[in-house]
Amino acid sequence: MTAEADHRLRALPSVDEVLKAEAAMLAVARFGRPAAVIAVRQTLDATRAALRAGRAEPSQSDAIASAALAKLAVDAQSNLRPVFNLTGTVLHTNLGRALIAEAAIEAAVAAMRSAVALEFDLASGKRGERDDHLRGLLCELTGAEDATVVNNNAAAVLLVLNTLAKGREAVVSRGELIEIGGAFRMPDIMARAGAKLKEVGTTNRTHLKDYLEAIGPRTGLVLKVHTSNYRIEGFTKEVGARELAAATRERNVPLVNDLGSGTLVDLSRWGLAHEPTVAEAIADGAELVTFSGDKLLGGPQAGFIVGRKALIEKINRNPMKRALRVDKMRLAALEASLRLYRDPDRLAEQLPTIRLLARPPSAIKSAAQRLLPTIAAKLGNSFTVEVVACASQIGSGALPLETVPSAGLAIRPSAARGSGRALEYLAAALRHLPVPVIGRVEDGAHILDLRCLEDEAAFAANFAALDLGGEHAPG
Ligand SMILES: *Cc1c(COP(=O)(O)O)cnc(C)c1O
Repeated sequence: MTAEADHRLRALPSVDEVLKAEAAMLAVARFGRPAAVIAVRQTLDATRAALRAGRAEPSQSDAIASAALAKLAVDAQSNLRPVFNLTGTVLHTNLGRALIAEAAIEAAVAAMRSAVALEFDLASGKRGERDDHLRGLLCELTGAEDATVVNNNAAAVLLVLNTLAKGREAVVSRGELIEIGGAFRMPDIMARAGAKLKEVGTTNRTHLKDYLEAIGPRTGLVLKVHTSNYRIEGFTKEVGARELAAATRERNVPLVNDLGSGTLVDLSRWGLAHEPTVAEAIADGAELVTFSGDKLLGGPQAGFIVGRKALIEKINRNPMKRALRVDKMRLAALEASLRLYRDPDRLAEQLPTIRLLARPPSAIKSAAQRLLPTIAAKLGNSFTVEVVACASQIGSGALPLETVPSAGLAIRPSAARGSGRALEYLAAALRHLPVPVIGRVEDGAHILDLRCLEDEAAFAANFAALDLGGEHAPG
């Protein structure tokens, strides 16, 4: 250590001295004294270590206090920040899936602010049930006899298996033993539910006789799983829900259909491919159908179980139900979201998921053309940008192979040399915007699919803060 560094180390101010600096007083006012003291102490420690390592760090009280304040300000930013989802995947699991309808947001906020009749029957003054708020709507929209709701669809499947097949066998086709990502593997869920997996058929072909041979006195249920995120093509055979339901009913074994996303309306209405609706699955004869709240349905995270009254009652008596239930905020948002389905003609206006999926490519292309000059000007000479046709995905496993025609901006590095690096650097700069922008990289371009961009002005204002020369610049 040099004599100079040694001198500065000895001259470092104390915590109390630093706390007298103006920036430190600001830090105390904004973040409270305990947090400010910790930040100052940490900054002093870091400065001490830097001086020992021979780096010339500013070591005056003012500089230490300012650094501590800056650190506190950064830490105070929520990690759960809003971002622009320009990935082209409308229901992006890592970006929080469905955007909630305004009516549902209002309902959730009202429920948060106040006591609500969550498990209280206002008509009789007696105890009510949490499920009462959704049961009627769910039965009306799906044609089911009864309904219940839990934390998510994974919980719904777990609860159904545990209630109907604990210590018994659950019969599933080998073609439907899915992994959904995030460690949701059907065989693992079965094991945790205490059900014994009984696989039938082969990966590509399962016949009715395979099921029939497997069904016996130990069978708890037959499970049909919507192969949400892949498709088996070629020499294939699966047993349709209707045929399977007729056969299982004859043998007095419940058929459970895990639809995954499920939808309450026929999406072909908006030019999208047909995804099986919950009402169809019920009409096909499944005793129980499970599906998600935050996939195509466009609500908050939840899992629905609809079907036969006697089975739903059994599920509700399972003590696990209590561990998987949803709170008043989500119930309020779910009720308001479901209510929108009573008026399918206005659904595309009111439910963001349908609105975004139904957006015509021409409208998206116009948005791209309007934004192009602003984006190009900001990017300068190192990148080129053009309006391109691209393909959006629904996401979350719904209609895995279908894409929806869309449009966006393709940003490419101007120089071929080092273009991979330049793309990474651009992606980092986009992520560091005040509202991070998340696109996708494809064929050497950073694509911003504008399907999910509704506020162009906010996007342009945010983009103006892009810093291509900042700390993320390639060295
Ligand atoms: C998505 C999905 C699940 C899990 O649903 P979550 O709501 O994410 O818990 C289960 N089964 C299928 C077939 C799915 O597609």
